[in-house]
Amino acid sequence: MLEEEKSTILLDEDEGSDELHEEKIYCANCIHCKVVKSAVGNGSQYQLRVRCSEGMWMKKTGEEKFHKYFTLARRSMDECTHYNSMGETRVFLKKLRANLPTKDEIYQT
Ligand code: SF4
Repeated sequence: MLEEEKSTILLDEDEGSDELHEEKIYCANCIHCKVVKSAVGNGSQYQLRVRCSEGMWMKKTGEEKFHKYFTLARRSMDECTHYNSMGETRVFLKKLRANLPTKDEIYQT
């Protein structure tokens, strides 16, 4: 994918809304949305991040962008040719929102 094309696929950064927008694609419900551990401190601790295994989340600099796990339910795209649904979005998001941490937690390895 060309750099110019990547810059048009930036994520919706509206951090404040938990509403479901029927016209949007929710990355959390896509098979390509992966939860990964990110080491912090001396390596005995980690935080959870999410990434798109299709490389669709990019910074304007061209680097891959990782998002904080607790914001996962808010990650959405207006369109995505790689979207592969894991099930009914509304039900999935409702359960996810009930189980996500409310802040960026630090875990022990
Ligand atoms: S492939 Fe598209 S819909 Fe799926 S996680 Fe990546 S950006 Fe989101």
